[in-house]
Amino acid sequence: MRILIVEDEKKVASFIKKGLEEEYYSVDVCHDGKEGFELATMEEYDLLILDVMLPYKDGITLTKELRAEKINTPILLLTAKDKVHDKVDGLDAGAEDYMTKPFAFEELLARIRALLRRSVISKSVQIKAGDLILDTQSHKVTRDNKIIDLTPKEYSILEYLMRNKNSVVSRTKLSEHVYDYHFDTDTNVIDVYINKLRNKIDKGFESPSLLYTVRGIGYIIKDE
Ligand code: CA
Repeated sequence: MRILIVEDEKKVASFIKKGLEEEYYSVDVCHDGKEGFELATMEEYDLLILDVMLPYKDGITLTKELRAEKINTPILLLTAKDKVHDKVDGLDAGAEDYMTKPFAFEELLARIRALLRRSVISKSVQIKAGDLILDTQSHKVTRDNKIIDLTPKEYSILEYLMRNKNSVVSRTKLSEHVYDYHFDTDTNVIDVYINKLRNKIDKGFESPSLLYTVRGIGYIIKDE
């Protein structure tokens, strides 16, 4: 699950990002409404968290413009004001939910889960490739009925590869998904994760290997 946070208070943004990453979400952050619009229209996200008071473009205008562009990604607005008209304006603009700052992180997580549950119904909760099963709700991964322990990053990479199974995912796409969009793709960090993942999901299983490297391009999960 990939989430975009548009929040100009950098401390708040990085606090939310860190907390969400610990919950197995991939998170991008930007700090103004203009960049938020560009990212939300160019990249694919499962959820957008938008602050209302933003430089260049406020969160409510941003919501309206995204809906006008037929971007139907669920939106949760963060507002420092608890004035009724802000909430009404936000919901009328097309946002699904809002939270008033300051908020309890647990409540933010619960609201995110609820929003994603609603939008995920069309996407399957369990993704399968051969006897490898990934549950996108519980984050449990099993192969041949054995539980596989993955770190949040490993899980995030595997989920992305499995959602795109049988097609090659480039290293750039993968690092964009797992890291910030400005992540330096020259590093071999992705390869390190892929090796760890391969050891966990393919090594020691009798059924055919699932994770392949396509030299010079990227990686693929093959489901025969
Ligand atoms: Ca703000």
